[in-house]
Amino acid sequence: MSETAAAARIERPAIFEERRDQIRRIGEGDFSMACNRDSLAGAVSQRACVFCGSRVVLYPIADALHLVHGPIGCAAYTWDIRGSLSSGPELHRLSFSTDLQELDVVFGGEKKLAKALDELIARHHPKAAFVYSTCIVGIIGDDLEAVCKAAGERNGIPVIPVQSEGFKGNKREGYLAACKAMRRLVGTGDVSDVSPLSVNIMGDFNLAGETWIIRRYMERMGVQVVAGITGDGRVDDIRRAHGAGLNLVQCSGSTQDLARMLRDDFGTPFIRVSWIGIEDVAESLYAIAEHFEARHPKLAAGMVERTAKLVREELAALMPQLAAIRRDLTGKRAAVYVGGSFKAFSLVKAFRHLGMEVAVVGSQTGTEEDYKELAAICSPGTIVVDDANPLELSAFIREKDVDVFVGGVKERPIAFKLGVGFCDHNHERKIALEGFEGMLNFAKEIHASVMSPVWRFVPRREAGLNRKDAEV
Ligand code: SF4
Repeated sequence: MSETAAAARIERPAIFEERRDQIRRIGEGDFSMACNRDSLAGAVSQRACVFCGSRVVLYPIADALHLVHGPIGCAAYTWDIRGSLSSGPELHRLSFSTDLQELDVVFGGEKKLAKALDELIARHHPKAAFVYSTCIVGIIGDDLEAVCKAAGERNGIPVIPVQSEGFKGNKREGYLAACKAMRRLVGTGDVSDVSPLSVNIMGDFNLAGETWIIRRYMERMGVQVVAGITGDGRVDDIRRAHGAGLNLVQCSGSTQDLARMLRDDFGTPFIRVSWIGIEDVAESLYAIAEHFEARHPKLAAGMVERTAKLVREELAALMPQLAAIRRDLTGKRAAVYVGGSFKAFSLVKAFRHLGMEVAVVGSQTGTEEDYKELAAICSPGTIVVDDANPLELSAFIREKDVDVFVGGVKERPIAFKLGVGFCDHNHERKIALEGFEGMLNFAKEIHASVMSPVWRFVPRREAGLNRKDAEV
């Protein structure tokens, strides 16, 4: 039976009429993607709300207090759902909420918030506090700005409101709210000891030590890191972030707004980078070195050469190990559904190094430009999807009969229910997947998942949907 015939036996997804222009198959007509719009009500989007968008960006700031002003349910999105490692303080691992109740909704939650702030600041001595607004706070109209200002004056630390009411847009709005909150800190620290050859690492959240890998590369190149924004983040570093000579923006959605603000307000240039895969990591390192050599020829002399040495050494160690893994994985297929589209680009390329094709790819927050770039590097027939829901993802995974699904915590049950291997590239990650060593970790994990004998016994294989069986 041909693959097409096998696919035809699978029930096609019930795609909502309103979502048809957010799903594309490469090669079927001109590529244009509707995206960056509010999720369709009732479609059970995989995408998180505005509050969650700001929470994922700000929470890795490890010496800050993070207080969710809202009902307790919003605070369920805690450190332990999405981790972020710290080399020092771990205040960010504690989740606090004002736990608004009916009476607070009727009479307002401002007093409760002020009391919570005073109590928590006295107990934990944070360097700053972020107060997250949730849907209910937006509805009852608590004056977060005024409460935070007064609490900051009383307690002598910055208390920063994050205007992240869940209903006011999509997850990207949350990123913007987080960037606006951080912008209040930037510019308030002393930068007299910051070198012109310095960077802020933006858009990496140090889920499993990735920021540390990048910091080590910067050290080897002779570049000072001023702030991790926000991986292994510190309030005092963010205060000094305007002193950096260059901003490195990974995950364009989450921190690009802050990079733009720093460019406009302090003249700091930024470049987009990706720390995932082989080409993207090497290109990012070279782009940094070339930038500094062009801007500061004397000070940065030899940086490109040092970078070339670094890349050579890393590849010499990595490539032979990848070759062995590739032998087993050639011809296998993957599906990718991630938060930001930058990760999707890099993963498509990373899978090619393993001999695998990405047959389904999507993101929660990609822009039209991102999807066009993505379409340009994917093969004909690849399904590209924006702001997907579990029904669609399940149907596409079944249709393409993929061997592994890469996503975050919300995608894991979809994969396992379908009997497909899963690689968590986000929330619950414990092994770093960035940099050259991250590529090796990724390859090993994909190999272990795809080659596991357990998949022979899952229902979809028994139902005859195995590609090899179907082709016989
Ligand atoms: S902010 Fe609103 S949408 Fe987000 S978790 Fe809370 S109630 Fe839900």
